[in-house]
Amino acid sequence: MFVNTQKPRRPLTALIAALCLSLSTTAFAEEALTNKQGPTGDGLSNNLMVAAAWKQTAAENKALYHQAFNIAKERVDAALKKHKKKDKPLAIISDLDETLFDASAYWGNLIQNNKDFFDDAVWDKWVPSNTIAATAGAQDFLNDVKNKGVEIFYVSSRDQGEKTFEYAIANMKALGFPNADAEHVTILRDSSNKEPSQKNIAEKYDVVVYLGDNLNDFQRKYYTKNVDQRTQLMEEDKEMFGRKFIVMPNPLDGHWMRAIFGESEPPANDKNREILKKAATQSTWQP
Ligand SMILES: [Mg+2]
Repeated sequence: MFVNTQKPRRPLTALIAALCLSLSTTAFAEEALTNKQGPTGDGLSNNLMVAAAWKQTAAENKALYHQAFNIAKERVDAALKKHKKKDKPLAIISDLDETLFDASAYWGNLIQNNKDFFDDAVWDKWVPSNTIAATAGAQDFLNDVKNKGVEIFYVSSRDQGEKTFEYAIANMKALGFPNADAEHVTILRDSSNKEPSQKNIAEKYDVVVYLGDNLNDFQRKYYTKNVDQRTQLMEEDKEMFGRKFIVMPNPLDGHWMRAIFGESEPPANDKNREILKKAATQSTWQP
């Protein structure tokens, strides 16, 4: 005799289904309420466009990377000149994303799909596609440093699950970056605090320069949610920039966004679009 074991569970299933429907309806209603201003249709209104267009087309963007690598190279050469056999060996420490990796195609994908804020799900799909590019001058710089016998370490924050490290190494190998191995690459999945890893390296090596697109790539003390304080902390160290700290341009993401929104990857909603407008009009001419 057929016994429908599902029968007693039906009312509960129905209740859960009803609850889910009601929750999703509420979530949908909230989404509709708070997401009226985002890009729609042909997507010609998207708050990422100016920065992304600059990143994708401006020769000035590439020139800034060359400038940064040229300065870093000068610092390495100067350190090598002064270096004595008994001294600690020389090294550089670099961030990966938007410092050596150029994620323009990812941002292009977001804009093409009417997304106007960083989208973690898209990022996590894009990283393993292994289509990331190198920033202008990155490969030449890294090979030059390597050929001069200076050690290269990479410290990056990324999280694509268990395969995070594997994906990062694959990205590096596809672009021919030297030292793409566990000895030289640290990928932080749970924290963006790079300082402990950097300190470990600095115990054994004389770190000539740090390269990054985010102040957090240089020192953790800049990790503040206060825009003015963040600027003030940077100003206190102004002598370090172009000497010890080599900064790359990134107008699309980073902890400068965290200082504005209170989080590094703010969700796409009207409240955040208003916050962005407020930030963009912090100084406004009033005739
Ligand atoms: Mg970065």
